[in-house]
Amino acid sequence: MSKLPSAERQSVVIVGAGLAGFNVASALVQRGYEGEVTLVGDEPWQPYDRPPLSKQLQLDGDESQIWLSPELPPKVKQLRQRKAMAIDPQRKELRLDDGSTLPWDRLVLATGTRPLRLAPLDALPRVLTLRTLGDARAIREAMTSVASLLVIGGGPIGLELAASAAALGRQSTVVEKSPRLMSRSAPAAMADILLEYHRSRGIAIHLSRTVVALDEGSQEAVLDDGQRVPAGLVVVGVGVRANDELAADAGIACDDGVFVDGWCRTTAPDVFAVGDVTRQRNPVTGRFERIETWANAQGQAQALAAIWCNPDEARAYDAVPWFWSDQGSARLQCAGALTGEQQVWRVDAAGGRVLVHWSAGLVTGVATLNATRDFGLLKKLIVPRATITPEQFSAPEANMRALVQQALAV
Ligand code: FAD
Ligand code: NAP
Repeated sequence: MSKLPSAERQSVVIVGAGLAGFNVASALVQRGYEGEVTLVGDEPWQPYDRPPLSKQLQLDGDESQIWLSPELPPKVKQLRQRKAMAIDPQRKELRLDDGSTLPWDRLVLATGTRPLRLAPLDALPRVLTLRTLGDARAIREAMTSVASLLVIGGGPIGLELAASAAALGRQSTVVEKSPRLMSRSAPAAMADILLEYHRSRGIAIHLSRTVVALDEGSQEAVLDDGQRVPAGLVVVGVGVRANDELAADAGIACDDGVFVDGWCRTTAPDVFAVGDVTRQRNPVTGRFERIETWANAQGQAQALAAIWCNPDEARAYDAVPWFWSDQGSARLQCAGALTGEQQVWRVDAAGGRVLVHWSAGLVTGVATLNATRDFGLLKKLIVPRATITPEQFSAPEANMRALVQQALAV
C-alpha cells in the first residue's frame, strides 16, 4: 500500500515551461510527488529566467547564468517546441499542435503573458518587443549595428533596456505616454527620482508623448508634438496581455488573466493556474489583479506543490506582492500597495532612498532605491499588520532592524 493518498499519484500536465511551470514541476519532484509530471512548453530552449534578458544579457551576452536550476530530473517528461492548442475539461485531455492529445488528472496553466504591440509600427523590421530569449538575442544583435535605441513605454522593460543601451554607448531615448515613469508599478515620488537618474546618465525621456510615425530614411521617430528623435532600433514595451485563450475557450472564467483562488484553482475542476497568466486576489488591495512579478510566479508555483503534497499543512497563497527592477546602477524595489494616504521618506547613510506608505495607521507599501537591506526588513511589516508609526520611522536615530523586530514582537 502506498504511503501517499491517491491524490498524490494523479498525473499532472503543466502547460508553459517558464518560471512558474518549471517551479511547479521542480517543487513537486522535490516534495516526492508520485504521479506522472509532464511539462509542455512552446519555446525551443530549456526553462530559463527572464530578468537577465533586459539587463545583464544585453551587456555581456553571457547566457550561462539564465538557465533555471537545478535541471529537472528525467522523472519529469518535458515536451519542448510543443504548443498546447485546446483543453477538453470533460474528457480531461490537452490537444497539442502536432494533433496528439495528452490525458491528465490535473492540469496546470502556466502560460504567462505576451507583449502588447502597436499596430501601426508592428510590420516594420526594426521594431521589436522583449519577452523571450529569442527576442533578447535579436535586440542584442540589432544593437551592435545601430547608434541609437528608442524604447516606447517607460515601464520596467523600457527603462531597464534604455539603461543597458546607454551603458553600451548607444544614444538612448524613452517615449512614455503618461506624465510620469513606471505609472503602473512604482510610486510617483520614486519615479521622479528615477527620471532624474536616467536623464543624468544621458537618456532622453519624453513624457506625455507618443510615437506617431517612423521615418525609415533618417532612422528617426516622429512624436505627437512633431519632435523627431533618433530611432536606429525601436523596442515597444507598453505592457502585456495574458495568454489565457486556452482557458477562455474551455469556458474557464478569465478577464485578461485566468481567475484563481488562493489554492490556485480555476473555475474548472482539476484545472489550476499559476504565474503571470493568473488574476488573483491581491492580499493588500483586496482586488483581483494580475501580479506580473518573478516572486509571484515562483511563490504561487511552490504553494501549489505544497497544497498537493502536504494538504494538511497547506494554506492559501497570500504573499505580499513585490518586485525589483535594476535600471543601470539603480535598484528599485517595491512591495505591497503604494497608495496609502500617508507617506514618509528616509535617506539612509549610503544615500539609498526608503519610502513607506501607511493607510489607517497600517503599513501598506514600501519602495526603496538602492536600499536592499531596509527593503527586506520593512516589507515584513506589510502582511502581519504589525506596525511602526511615521514618527518612529523618520526619527534621525532610528535603527531599522530594531524597529522592525520590536513591531513584529508585539
Ligand atoms: P512566462 O515566463 O511568460 O512563461 C510562460 C511560458 O509559457 C512561456 O515560455 C510561453 O512561451 C509558454 N506558453 C504560452 N502559451 C503556451 C501554449 N499554448 N503551449 C505551450 N507553452 C505555452 N520580474 C521581476 O520581479 N523583476 C525583474 O527584474 C523582472 N525582469 C524581467 C525582465 C524581462 C525582460 C521580462 C520579460 C520579465 C521580467 N520580470 C521581472 C517578470 C518575470 O520574469 C515574470 O513575472 C515571470 O517570467 C512570469 O513567469 P511565468 O512562468 O508565469 O510566465
Ligand atoms: P508596463 O509596466 O505595463 O509598462 C508599460 C508602460 O508603457 C506604461 O507606463 C504605459 O503607460 C506605457 N505606454 C502604453 N502605451 C504607450 C504608448 N503608445 N506610447 C508610450 N508609452 C505607452 O509593462 P512593460 O514595461 O512593457 O513590462 C512588460 C512585462 O514585463 C510586465 O509584466 C512586467 O512586469 C515585466 N517586467 C518586469 C520587470 C521588473 O519587474 N523588473 C522588468 C521587465 C519586465 P500607461 O500606464 O499610461 O498606459
